[in-house]
Amino acid sequence: MTKISTNEIDIVKSEKSRINDVDFDNLVFGRTFTDHMFYCDYVDGEWQQPKIVPYQPITIEPSARVFHYGQAVFEGMKGYKDDNGDAWLFRPNDNFERINKSAARLAIPEFPKEYFFEGLTTLLNMDKAWIKKGKGNSLYIRPFVFATEPAISASPANNYRFMIICSPAKAYYTAKLRVLFAEKYSRSANGGVGFAKAAGNYAAQFYPTNLANKKGYQQIIWTDANTHEYLEEAGTMNIFFRVNDTLITAPTSDRILDGITRKSVIQVAEDHNLKVEVRPVSVKEIKEAAANGSLKEIFGAGTAAVISPIAAFEHGGDVFELPELDNSYALQIKDHILNIQHNLSEDKHGWRFKV
Ligand code: PMP
Repeated sequence: MTKISTNEIDIVKSEKSRINDVDFDNLVFGRTFTDHMFYCDYVDGEWQQPKIVPYQPITIEPSARVFHYGQAVFEGMKGYKDDNGDAWLFRPNDNFERINKSAARLAIPEFPKEYFFEGLTTLLNMDKAWIKKGKGNSLYIRPFVFATEPAISASPANNYRFMIICSPAKAYYTAKLRVLFAEKYSRSANGGVGFAKAAGNYAAQFYPTNLANKKGYQQIIWTDANTHEYLEEAGTMNIFFRVNDTLITAPTSDRILDGITRKSVIQVAEDHNLKVEVRPVSVKEIKEAAANGSLKEIFGAGTAAVISPIAAFEHGGDVFELPELDNSYALQIKDHILNIQHNLSEDKHGWRFKV
């Protein structure tokens, strides 16, 4: 792997920061971007010199393969600032490994680890003022890579661009979600790309999610494509069910993203001596548990919101409302993870990474 040091990143600084134009109290998720962006091109079988430049539009030919065949993968991670003004990432090596796992599945060349970490930390240090202190504030970081080669034959491209852009964020979801269990559409199949953060996975969810929105549901809980009998994930989140005092979540597979929040939730729950079962979860058992009162909570787990509690679900025309709890596991686990992320508590698993 090629080694680089910060002085090998070609840096062009923006002349004037845009930060004073931003209303940090009224951010809409994913709309505002920091002053700089990182990029690195893959040409002639090699990643070229990485660059950091002012955030700006890019020029790309209409024949670039990403537009025609969707050869693109991405990551989602967050930066946090503690009360001393130090900036932190949460388990960034997992994001690095996952983007390359996704890339390999889409026949995209892997990105070197040194480039990823040098690029990320240099960019974040340049745009550190955009990370605001306080729980709930964060900087959403979007690494992504796409096929740029101008040629529309349906085969893997020879040229790619890897980029990192950053967007300041407040808490992602506010109200509890109402969700629909999928009965017709599927997001992934065995042998497919569900485990990868492939751009096309998300495009394919938009239409069924629009239909669910029209019925008054904000999200779909995806079921397995073969039988639609097992609950798998929530589109941009993994999904947990609390039946009595046990947390249950589906095992990761070809079809399910290996979420970093999911594994952190499992670890934190086990650290608190909560019972966790990683096993297939059937629609039938969850409907029965809802009917007999043993279903206490359902929540999504993902980087954007950490934990999103669910208020109600529908399946086959049956609607179930979940109880309001005083001792919500979802909220306790969320608080615990937020405290680790914001350097407010002990980090016994070594998840924090200082930028
Ligand atoms: N599932 C899918 C399909 C996702 O896109 C995400 C968001 N990355 C997740 C689960 C949650 O993963 P993480 O906790 O790593 O953000």
